[in-house]
Amino acid sequence: MKIMVSACLAGENCKYNGGNNANGKVLRLMGENEVISVCPETMGGLPVPRMPAEIRDGVVMCKDGTVVDRQFRAGAAKCLEIAIREQPEMIVFQSRSPSCGVKKRYDGTFSGKLVDGAGVTAQLLLENGFRVVDVEDL
Ligand code: SF4
Repeated sequence: MKIMVSACLAGENCKYNGGNNANGKVLRLMGENEVISVCPETMGGLPVPRMPAEIRDGVVMCKDGTVVDRQFRAGAAKCLEIAIREQPEMIVFQSRSPSCGVKKRYDGTFSGKLVDGAGVTAQLLLENGFRVVDVEDL
């Protein structure tokens, strides 16, 4: 099976703080399947490390008000292009991320509060009919 995964789940140090979210289940899946790993935020041109961002009123911004919506949406568009080309049967994404989150995301106040809703890349992939699974539901 061909699967797409958040690169940080595969152990890549692409998180905003320079770390990763290496996940045992994802690493096992990688051993048994053809895997495409993507990090929408770095693919959109953002550096590692970078300021954390959240979605406020539909716009992705950092705590200091810097708007990074363009980079987030550029990364999402690149992931969609790859997904259309590669046709993964399943996409496994990191929870709660403003890019990769599938079911919940932070509410834009940087207070740790969660709201229902996906990150921009997960949302775009879902809208285009891909099967996007929150890693916590694996
Ligand atoms: S954008 Fe996605 S892949 Fe990249 S660090 Fe954030 S959660 Fe991981």
